Amino acid sequence: MTAPGATLTPHADALHAEGDRLMTICNSCRYCEGLCAVFPAMELRREFRDGDLNYLANLCHSCGACFVDCQFAPPHEFAVNVPRTLARLRNDSYRTYAWPAALAPMFDRNGLAISLVASVAVAGFILGFVAFNDPGALTATASGPGAFYRLMPHNAMAALFGAAFLYALVAMGLGLRAFWKDIGEPAATLGHPPSLWQAAKDAGRLRYLDGGEAGCFNEDDQPNDRRRLYHHFTFYGFMLCFAATSVATLYHYALGREAPYPLYDLPVVLGTLGGIGLIVGPIGLFAAKLRRAPHLVDEARFGMDTAFLAMLFLTSLTGLALMLLRDTPAMGTLLALHLGVVLALFLTMPYSKMVHGLYRYAALVRYARESRW
Ligand code: SF4
Ligand code: SF4
Repeated sequence: MTAPGATLTPHADALHAEGDRLMTICNSCRYCEGLCAVFPAMELRREFRDGDLNYLANLCHSCGACFVDCQFAPPHEFAVNVPRTLARLRNDSYRTYAWPAALAPMFDRNGLAISLVASVAVAGFILGFVAFNDPGALTATASGPGAFYRLMPHNAMAALFGAAFLYALVAMGLGLRAFWKDIGEPAATLGHPPSLWQAAKDAGRLRYLDGGEAGCFNEDDQPNDRRRLYHHFTFYGFMLCFAATSVATLYHYALGREAPYPLYDLPVVLGTLGGIGLIVGPIGLFAAKLRRAPHLVDEARFGMDTAFLAMLFLTSLTGLALMLLRDTPAMGTLLALHLGVVLALFLTMPYSKMVHGLYRYAALVRYARESRW
């Protein structure tokens, strides 16, 4: 028997066929059109190709409101569960667009184990290298400008981390290009500032995580704003840490001032605030994940989600510990650990939950464009 709502549009797999079935039912019902951007975007379409479904999936913020509101949710025979199906499609889309394709299976493996092994391996390499060349540098109490570079010269550090960051940017950029082409959006949209600006505002305040202004239905039918709050801590914490690194780079090359800097100086202040955000945010998001209603969860990708949160948390923890203990003999070991975690974060970024920010922003740009024209 054909499932209620099934269509004849060809799909790559059963998951996309299920997404098509649900969107076809929702397009007839339209009860949820005021909840978020997904339903108005859906209403602009009569059929749902795989690229359309990946676009809608990345537009969804997983607030759960449309499951709570749905009269066709299980145990109804239509079995409509939009948040979980879109979560599965979204998570699959990261794998589909990954570059290089050979590394796409990293999304399926235990990302936390890979990231931790990479962190320890890099930290171990740095420690071993220093112990071999200058054993005293590991336990020496060094402070003041240039103290960090006794462990690893600044130019070597900049080359290694610059190359890793560049690789992450290229890999994520090529993934984003594949997504953009597959959803069928013309390149001209990238030259449309109002759409870019509207999407930046919607992403910056997580407009569509509010379940149509009620809040996020993460745990049950009692909405709250905790996921949005912790997401803000994480996102703005990350941006502050990025700003701290950028200012420090400017100090080094433009002003000739070497790290570590005094506690009151801008890179340290930005890094400390960002670090606190990256402690509070990932812990809050992890707790929300543990409390999430089972019918909303894409169980297969729980590891991928938590690995990225864990790496952000460890980056911040090792960074703050280094800042607090930089004038003690623990500085060498903590610096090696911090560098190991940061390098592993950069290298695994294109195959982690990090990409959800890029694809969601791209989906918001498209939505801003098509809801305007
Ligand atoms: S989720 Fe349910 S109530 Fe909402 S539009 Fe779809 S079918 Fe209708
Ligand atoms: S953002 Fe919320 S209301 Fe919209 S599709 Fe996703 S889970 Fe449903």
